[in-house]
Amino acid sequence: VKIGFVGLGQMGSAIASNLIGAGHELVVWNRSADKAEALIARGARLATTPAEAASGEIVISMLADDRAVERVTFGEQGILSAAARPIHVSMSTISTDLADRLTAGQSGAYVSAPVFGRPAAAEAAKLFILAAGPSGALDACEPVFSAIGQRVFRIGERPSQANLVKLCGNFMIMAAIEAMAEAMTLAEKGNVSGAQLVEVLTGTLFSAPVYQTYGEILAEERFRPAGFAAPLGLKDMHLVASAAHALRTPMPVLSVLRDQLLSVIAQEGEEIDWSGVALAVRRNAGLQAGGAL
Ligand code: NAP
Repeated sequence: VKIGFVGLGQMGSAIASNLIGAGHELVVWNRSADKAEALIARGARLATTPAEAASGEIVISMLADDRAVERVTFGEQGILSAAARPIHVSMSTISTDLADRLTAGQSGAYVSAPVFGRPAAAEAAKLFILAAGPSGALDACEPVFSAIGQRVFRIGERPSQANLVKLCGNFMIMAAIEAMAEAMTLAEKGNVSGAQLVEVLTGTLFSAPVYQTYGEILAEERFRPAGFAAPLGLKDMHLVASAAHALRTPMPVLSVLRDQLLSVIAQEGEEIDWSGVALAVRRNAGLQAGGAL
């Protein structure tokens, strides 16, 4: 399939690479063109505008946030100014509101397909894909999804439903990280190592991938380089808050998570992983950052 790919950050580069590996023809665009070099060396063609990338049957976007997706879609020489009418598959974690506007404004079909999985899972083609949109368009996307993910969940016909599921998931991941960091800090203050606590909990009641992945990251304090940067996590908590506001759903835990992310970004800078909230938890308990959790 001839595929356009827009947004070659950590996730986009890994996904695009797997599409080339599966034999698809790729035309790629990124704001900073240098990130396309490795893909071009493997046969991708470089587009000079998002519109040029949108010349095939499908155009995939994997960008940081709402602002980037709006610019690349509706902006000058954006996807919508292309002569072709490809299916636009938006994999970024964006607001439900923007997904609704993308649905209404698209000239071709629009599919929301946000994903669960960090960059390592993207590289291994092990993403979980949450897809929503017209069923014919979802069928047409199957060859793409099977090249990059381990399972596709069809959420519904309205694209923003997939974005809502993704936002619910990220809220729960952040809550799990915060809860683990608090429990590990408590354990450490009572002279039980965080690593031991994680071993007990993930080996008994908390065997889910999210506790295993982040338990290991917290125990080893692997917060740099970020797999998922704290400012992106903060962006997601804001997106959850606006969906919760629109749907009149109080989420008191969400406010705590947002403040913890703000603390860690203020203290540690923009480059830290979102699981670095553990450092803010430690400081609040009077422990030095940098000790084993
Ligand atoms: P990233 O490495 O920071 O990449 C962000 C991408 O967006 C880059 O290609 C960047 O271009 C582009 N971009 C940012 N602002 C832009 C603008 N104003 N105009 C045009 N392009 C712009 O982020 P990522 O980790 O790949 O995440 C991408 C998306 O996937 C986000 O929505 C994130 O929430 C979601 N996600 C991430 C993970 C994860 O673990 N990392 C997991 C699931 C979902 P430049 O290269 O020019 O900066």
